[in-house]
Amino acid sequence: MLDIQKIRAEFPILSEKVNGKPLVYFDNGATSQKPQIVIDAEAKYYQEINANIHRGVHTLSQLATDAYEISRVKIQHHINAKFSHEVLFTSGTTHGINLVTNGFASILKPGDEILVSALEHHSNIVPWQMLCEKTGAVLKVIPINEDGELIMETFDVLLSEKTKVVTVNHISNALGIINPIKSIIEKAHAVGAAVLIDGAQAVPHLKPDVQDLDCDFYAFSGHKMCGPTGTGILYGKEEWLNKLPPYQGGGEMIKEVTFEKTTYADLPHKFEAGTPNIAGGIVLGTAIDYLNNIGFHNIQKQEQKLLEHATKRLLEIEGLKIYGTGKNKASVISFNIDGIHPYDIGSIIDKLGIAVRTGHHCAQPIMNFFCIPGTIRASFSFYNTIEEIDVMVEAVKKAKTMLS
Ligand SMILES: *Cc1c(COP(=O)(O)O)cnc(C)c1O
Repeated sequence: MLDIQKIRAEFPILSEKVNGKPLVYFDNGATSQKPQIVIDAEAKYYQEINANIHRGVHTLSQLATDAYEISRVKIQHHINAKFSHEVLFTSGTTHGINLVTNGFASILKPGDEILVSALEHHSNIVPWQMLCEKTGAVLKVIPINEDGELIMETFDVLLSEKTKVVTVNHISNALGIINPIKSIIEKAHAVGAAVLIDGAQAVPHLKPDVQDLDCDFYAFSGHKMCGPTGTGILYGKEEWLNKLPPYQGGGEMIKEVTFEKTTYADLPHKFEAGTPNIAGGIVLGTAIDYLNNIGFHNIQKQEQKLLEHATKRLLEIEGLKIYGTGKNKASVISFNIDGIHPYDIGSIIDKLGIAVRTGHHCAQPIMNFFCIPGTIRASFSFYNTIEEIDVMVEAVKKAKTMLS
């Protein structure tokens, strides 16, 4: 069993007060809080080894480069990539997805098809729409059912020889549904399509194995997994990364530059133009170590306990409806109360120190599907407690009484 109080003590912000009340932080789906070890590692980098990487022969530059590359290998092992050069540092999931869609602009032809799911975050919809505009490719959508699950029978029908890319999230940020990505990847590969998995909501809860999944790309952000903002990873299979053109031009990504012709650097540097977030990349490794020390098995056990308790307690409230009732779920609950705007509940419980997200959660198509303006989303992390959930439930009851 995890010692939750001991873990909570490692996160300074969790003992803050908000609006005079102890903070109850249930907006982990938007970004997670950071343990002291992560905060310290960021300062330590600047205090002790700050220098630009891959450039200088001087000692500090070597130390910074080593730390950055050690972090890359650490992340390679964490996601079980075959090679460390398949692990690209990015500024986050959004950057990783755009790197891929930009690359496919030189591959797709008019009439080619891209399948996205109806559960996607805007950052895994809009870049593909932009790609379609550029190339004449056609975007098709894998629909969901009333439980918020992908309708796999329709996916089978949509999939054809025309399908060049399939992209879905591993876990939905808006509903918490865990998608059957292994079967999606297998079926997509059977028609020769490449698969990008948006893992932004999965990596805080589980350890993805990219070789076992056999996905072609897997993108995620550091800030939702106890790491710094402005960090992220794009995993890409070597053969795909060799096929795609560079995303940005600049320093670091070249072999040789003349005004007649420039040749590009080898992987991973071909995709890492300019000075990256060096401290962030190193500290993302620290965050991953931290999570592995707690253990993803323990994290899941704690989070499932929170999910079960919150589901049961929230359903005590009359007129409350939960969206995303599928069986396979991560610790995210999206809900509404009959006749009350989600924003009004969110504002009242904020006054009581409770941080939840209200709105469309960057997934407007899901809200349109359910014909609602948005939801209240409580997303739990391993450092949250049963007591905090009870505090939220009482606050929601109070808000309901005030508003009805
Ligand atoms: C947060 C999130 C993103 C975007 O991540 P950024 O860190 O803002 O780039 C994309 N997809 C999902 C599912 C997310 O939850």
